[in-house]
Amino acid sequence: MTQKTTNPITLGVDLGGTKVKAALVDASGHILTIHKCTTHSEKGAERVIADVLTCIDGCFKKVRQEAHALGIGIAGQVDLKGIVRYAPNLKWQDVPLKDKLEAKLGKPVIVTNDVRAATWGEWRYGSGKGLQDLVVLFVGTGIGGGVVSGGNMMVGCSNTGGELGHITIVSGGRKCRCPNIGCLEAYAGGWAIAERAQEAVREDPKAGQHIISLVGDVERITAATVGEAYREGDQLARQLVEETGRYLAAGVVSIINAFNPCLLVLGGGVIEGLPELIQAVEKLARNKALKSAIERLKVVKAALGGSAGVIGAAALAQHACMHENDCEEDK
Ligand SMILES: [Zn+2]
Repeated sequence: MTQKTTNPITLGVDLGGTKVKAALVDASGHILTIHKCTTHSEKGAERVIADVLTCIDGCFKKVRQEAHALGIGIAGQVDLKGIVRYAPNLKWQDVPLKDKLEAKLGKPVIVTNDVRAATWGEWRYGSGKGLQDLVVLFVGTGIGGGVVSGGNMMVGCSNTGGELGHITIVSGGRKCRCPNIGCLEAYAGGWAIAERAQEAVREDPKAGQHIISLVGDVERITAATVGEAYREGDQLARQLVEETGRYLAAGVVSIINAFNPCLLVLGGGVIEGLPELIQAVEKLARNKALKSAIERLKVVKAALGGSAGVIGAAALAQHACMHENDCEEDK
C-alpha cells in the first residue's frame, strides 16, 4: 500500500479492434506520454494481448516512471471479474483479460468497457469534473454512455449499466445491432445515420444527388458524408441532421427523466462532426422533459476528445487501487 499511495501514476489503455492506445497518466489526469500500436485481432486474443504489452512498453521507453496499476477499456461487455464476455470487434468471447494481464505485468489491472472508461475520464478530469450527478452520452458509430449518481459510477447487477444507446425510442422501430428494435442507437448512431441516409437517397435520388456526388455511390454514404453535405447547405442532409437531433432528444428526455443529472455531457464522433446537435438536442429536451428533472440541468460538450478513454481507464485504476484494498471496479 505504501507504494500505491506514494506513486500516483497509472497506466490507461484503450483497446479497439484495429488499434490500441496506452498512456501514463498522473494523479491530475495529465498524460505524461501516449503510445499507439496496431492490434492484430485476426491472430487471436493472445496476439492482441501481446500487442497491448508492446504498446505499454512503448510508454515506459519514453518516460522512465513506474505505474502502480493499469486500467484498460475495451469495446465490449466485461464482467465484474475482468473477463471480456463479448467483444465483437476483436471477435473475443470469455477472455479473462484481467488475469492474463496481471500475470504478465505483476500489477493490479482493472478491465472495463471503453465507453465506461471514457465516462470516468470526463467525470474525473473533463467536463464533469467535481460533479456528483451526471450522465455522459457518447454518440459515435454506436451509442454508449455512463451514469454517475450520488458520486458513484452506476455499474448495474452484471456490470453493463449505462448502455444508454439501447433505450427504446420507437416502439416497433428500426432494427438495432442488439437483439432489440427501435433503440436510440438504431436511429442516431453513426451506422444508423448512414443507413437512414442511404435509404433516403435511394427513395429520392434527385434530392440525394449532392450526397451521392461526395462519395460516388449509395453504399459509401456514411454519417461523415451527411455532415459534409450539411456543411455545404444540402437540403436532404439538413433534414437528416434535424431528424437525428429529434431522435437524440427523444433518448435524452428519457435519460434526464430517469436519472435527473446536473450535467449531460455529449461526445463522440457524431457530436464532434455536428456540434450544433448539442444545442438542438438541449432545446428540444427542455420542452419535453419533466420540469423538475431538467430545471438545474446543463448540457455541454465532452472535453477530452479521443483521450477520454486512456485518461478514464487510468483514473478508474487509480480510484480502485488508491481507495480500496483490492482493485475491483465495483468497489
Ligand atoms: Zn439496441
